Amino acid sequence: LFAALTPQAPDPLLSLIALYREDARPEKIDLGVGVYRDEAGHTPIMRAMKAAERKLVDEQPTKSYLGPEGDVGFVALSARLAMGPQAEGLIGVQTPGGTGALRLAAALVQSARPGGTVWLGAPSWPIHAPIFESAGLKVCSYRHYDPATGALAFEDILEALGQASAGDVFLIHGCCHNPSGADPDAGQWAEIARLTAERGVVPLIDLAYQGLGEGLDEDAAGARLVVAAVDEALVAYSCDKNFGLYRERTGALFVKAAGSIDATRSNLHALARYMWSMPPDHGAAAARIILETPALAADWRMELDTVRERLNAVRQALAAAHPRLAPLGGQKGMFSLLPLTPDQVIAIRKDHAVYMAGSGRINIAGLTLESVPRFVQAFDAVLSN
Ligand code: PMP
Repeated sequence: LFAALTPQAPDPLLSLIALYREDARPEKIDLGVGVYRDEAGHTPIMRAMKAAERKLVDEQPTKSYLGPEGDVGFVALSARLAMGPQAEGLIGVQTPGGTGALRLAAALVQSARPGGTVWLGAPSWPIHAPIFESAGLKVCSYRHYDPATGALAFEDILEALGQASAGDVFLIHGCCHNPSGADPDAGQWAEIARLTAERGVVPLIDLAYQGLGEGLDEDAAGARLVVAAVDEALVAYSCDKNFGLYRERTGALFVKAAGSIDATRSNLHALARYMWSMPPDHGAAAARIILETPALAADWRMELDTVRERLNAVRQALAAAHPRLAPLGGQKGMFSLLPLTPDQVIAIRKDHAVYMAGSGRINIAGLTLESVPRFVQAFDAVLSN
């Protein structure tokens, strides 16, 4: 049986971690893997999360099964956090992270329309296309980002929306686009919302970085506008960055299902049951405790503000330090794409111990205000070679 399998390429970011670990140069800089790091290079457990986990351990009465929808308190509170007052009208299911939410969304679309089409802007998170394709859906690619300007390829997005047929799914990064950091502005969101509704396209909003761009409500404003404009929508939500939960696999899928609410809900539950039965509990239960406890929620928001302010400070320092980095100043979140060729990405690693993905994507959180000048010097050196 297994002789029929062809080997799959390892995730290039994992090979990069190994190379970084083996590099003995003390000045090395890791801009590879997409996790937040503080000034000291640590990925901390947030204060409110530690407190909520303690409370959970002390007070949780049982670990008996929940249903396929997971922790219903978490689902309601995270829906409210993501979508504001609109949350009331949405079906919610807790999922293993944002990845699980995307996979469940793909399975739901495949059930409703086998072999249906998902429009995906390029570049995107490299796992998007395989998630949809492995569910049996067809992926149509269009240009999301213009490397020449470092900005959104907005005309291309409008053109893709114009070409999409009614019932096609259109994936949109809710905020802090991975890998480009290029998000629509308020006017562009309004235009996207208008066209999505006009074309009968079903938006699938991937909201994995709420709170890391401009603020919790600000970062969700575009998603809320689009969902409000249409009858049917999907929102894949991740708590793995904004609650620092990564390995706990905490997320949710929210669905707006017009007149098909009961059928959609029962299909979501059935599909979840076939894939993972029910989602892992710990992260979601702890996030629920934070969201339902005013003092913990306030502390969590404060720490998230610090995270965002640090990312933005490094971003602005980079943008001010070199003319070719200026577009980073208008981008949002943890990532940006540098204007480097694959050879320059190898050169900056070999000659300057700066590690980044082959695409030139950098994790802003791998830098500090202190390491920015050394990084910019290395960037300038490989550009001029
Ligand atoms: N969507 C995007 C755009 C992401 O960058 C990520 C995580 N890197 C995810 C979804 C998945 O998030 P999670 O870790 O919660 O599965």
